[in-house]
Amino acid sequence: MANKTAFITGITGQDGAYLSKLLLDKGYRVVGSMRRTSGIGTWRLQSLQVLDDIEFASMELTEDSNVRAVLEKIKPDEIYNLAAQSFVGDSFTQPIYTTQVTGVGALRLLEGARTVVPTAKFYQASTSEMFGKVQQVPQTETTPFYPRSPYGIAKLFAHWTVVNYREAYGLHCCSGILFNHESPLRGVEFLPRKVTLGMAKYAVRGEGPLRVGNLEAKRDWGHARDYVDAMWRMLQTAPVMDFVVATGRTHTVRDFVEMAASACGISLDWQGTGHNELGIDRATGNIVVSVDPAFYRPSEVDLLVGDPSLAKEVLDWSPTVQLEDLVAEMVEADMQRISSNHVSGF
Ligand code: NDP
Repeated sequence: MANKTAFITGITGQDGAYLSKLLLDKGYRVVGSMRRTSGIGTWRLQSLQVLDDIEFASMELTEDSNVRAVLEKIKPDEIYNLAAQSFVGDSFTQPIYTTQVTGVGALRLLEGARTVVPTAKFYQASTSEMFGKVQQVPQTETTPFYPRSPYGIAKLFAHWTVVNYREAYGLHCCSGILFNHESPLRGVEFLPRKVTLGMAKYAVRGEGPLRVGNLEAKRDWGHARDYVDAMWRMLQTAPVMDFVVATGRTHTVRDFVEMAASACGISLDWQGTGHNELGIDRATGNIVVSVDPAFYRPSEVDLLVGDPSLAKEVLDWSPTVQLEDLVAEMVEADMQRISSNHVSGF
């Protein structure tokens, strides 16, 4: 039997890279969507040494005919829709574009799948940001949604569209409600990578300070490599349903910053409060971290922690990496990049 074909939108992103590796290792033919401007993004696929094994299709999620033509050409067995304007901060300044790509883009792809390849299995990258304002702790598959950003709202539109296409048309489509997941391949605009890169810059070159927003926000952070495995398992499992994918542990941004500092051998003293708080290097007295109100969100998401019990029970999935180890891996990769003057991801 011929190998299965997987089509990954957003293949140049963090998850796209790890998912490509996982699927190639399983013997899939992997086709990824690429935009004309995506060239800079191939560094992740290169670093996992999968770039040469992937086929690419030029696709922009905001173009109906383009989406349909690509599906007609590839005829995938499995579709992973990872493409999104995925940065919450930018979704406040680009709400319409974010909705077009992250929300309506998913509908375009689903509608394409329904009409062109209705037997294909479809994975949608939903997010814990759909929970937004805390309604229940921990958050499960049945927790009410209350998104707090244009990104969260667009993802929720996509999420309900998947439910509707499953119920209305019987499509094999489902969503993973993934909590934050990181890796050395995370984009530098996202807080965790910004922190590990900032700490590495301070440790290696004495550069700083690192400017951050709300230190008290709590997140449930896992490793991206574990989370793409959950995506794949979701498409192999019956019944077709949505799953929370999380570690079940939550930490503050302050915890994350302290772990990154500690991985660089730096011990921080905190001085001041709120918008004036500073993280000081205990050994040198240098300012390493500075709270900057510019990095606060207009409407904050204070506490995210997921309950992965259902994924454990049905998918036999569990996270394998502790946050301390994840942070150490990210810091080490950034220290090496800074030392060799080669920082990827700009
Ligand atoms: P990234 O931001 O790293 O990757 C986003 C991808 O989407 C890139 O490949 C990008 O391509 C592509 N893309 C953006 N706009 C378009 C467009 N208009 N048309 C086609 N492709 C486009 O995201 P991650 O890998 O971290 O996340 C994968 C998915 O999972 C995203 O949908 C994200 O919202 C979601 N998610 C992520 C979480 C996390 O913690 N990482 C948590 C929960 C959900 P290009 O290179 O061309 O810009």
